[in-house]
Amino acid sequence: MADAASMDLLARAERRMPGGVNSPVRAFRAVGGNPVFVDRAKGSRIYGADGREYLDYVCSWGPAILGHAAPKVVEAVQRAAERGLTYGAPTELEVRFAERIGELYPSIEMLRAVSSGTEATMSALRVARGFTGRSVIVKFDGGYHGHSDALLVKAGSGPATFGNPDSAGVPSSIVEHTATLGYNDLPALKELFRRRGSEIAAVIVEPVAGNMGCVPPVPGFLESIVELCRAHGALSIFDEVITGCRLAPGGAQEHFGVRPDLTCLGKIVGGGMPLALYGGRRDVMSQVSPLGPVYQAGTLSGNPVAVSAALATLEELDRDAYAKLDRLGQSLAEGLERALRDTKTTGVVQRIGSMLTLFFNPGPVQSWNQIKSSDTQRFARFHRGLLERSVYFPPSQFETAFVSLAHTQDELDRTIDAAREALSAG
Ligand SMILES: *Cc1c(COP(=O)(O)O)cnc(C)c1O
Repeated sequence: MADAASMDLLARAERRMPGGVNSPVRAFRAVGGNPVFVDRAKGSRIYGADGREYLDYVCSWGPAILGHAAPKVVEAVQRAAERGLTYGAPTELEVRFAERIGELYPSIEMLRAVSSGTEATMSALRVARGFTGRSVIVKFDGGYHGHSDALLVKAGSGPATFGNPDSAGVPSSIVEHTATLGYNDLPALKELFRRRGSEIAAVIVEPVAGNMGCVPPVPGFLESIVELCRAHGALSIFDEVITGCRLAPGGAQEHFGVRPDLTCLGKIVGGGMPLALYGGRRDVMSQVSPLGPVYQAGTLSGNPVAVSAALATLEELDRDAYAKLDRLGQSLAEGLERALRDTKTTGVVQRIGSMLTLFFNPGPVQSWNQIKSSDTQRFARFHRGLLERSVYFPPSQFETAFVSLAHTQDELDRTIDAAREALSAG
């Protein structure tokens, strides 16, 4: 149950915005609750409309990796704002940003900045189709790549289902070129390439799935995607909107030592501002307008305030930061596993670095087919139990929780105690 101030705001919000929110998962429908309206945030904490403090493991769905309102980032934003909010003209900041990304991600020889992850993936697909002259794109069931038409498809049953839109308003003629396969299902991917390899423009994948809960790739999965694409003249696209700057400075591709043709970054890379990018091979990115025939543009793309936040954030994310994030993630995961054992609860904690999910499922789970049988009712009760104890976890079984650099061991211990209590309450 949310506080009275949030309930008042929700009533007003619902009259003017669908579900009272500007992005659906914020409405807490998956846990049958009501959202906490946030007044402000600092470090590991968010503060509700009534002033109540919560330990935050949503972290704005990833971006707040330094913790909220990190002083260096806020300062950079303030300085940039004074110099003008937007020019619609190129800046030195963008040059420095593109160079820095190129250093961190050697696969990103050229990039284009955009304002959201959705724009990044949508544009990467267009470039892949323009470059290859092919139409078919392959995605994996349970993978979320933003809300553009071609990517709003999940698999039905069967190894490769073409063209079932997930959303009303998406014509089947648009998604009939989108093939979906089970995440981590290498045999199905090989079979699809064997049958239709010459039609495939691109395979897009979250290198660690984060939008069905945290699901790492099985050994060889990412390598095989890249190799199969190469062998068949298709392009591999790593959607690192979550994993980029999360698992390592150079994202999942650095962590796993795999080099895709194209990469999408968002969330963390914008330092909390609306900034994302797509980029990769020089020959592929040379197809983008004005160099090539693939059109893509944006009024606020590469916005100076957003790029300033990005540069300040990347500055803070050194090697030590990732070692610390991994330690914190491990400590929380182990604590949650202990809480499961102590309370004899069926569940599994899946983690990589600072991203993790507690699945109410015997697990381990490697694909959406296994994940979808998780006990979502139990998760909803768990979520409520945590919220009552001032711990703010993602409001869905199928989301990933994040730890930030601002979280302390003491806070994790409190969180683990809260989880044990919430689990024993049933
Ligand atoms: C969040 C997300 C997106 C979409 O990014 P937006 O900025 O919300 O448009 C795309 N891909 C992945 C993997 C994401 O997690």
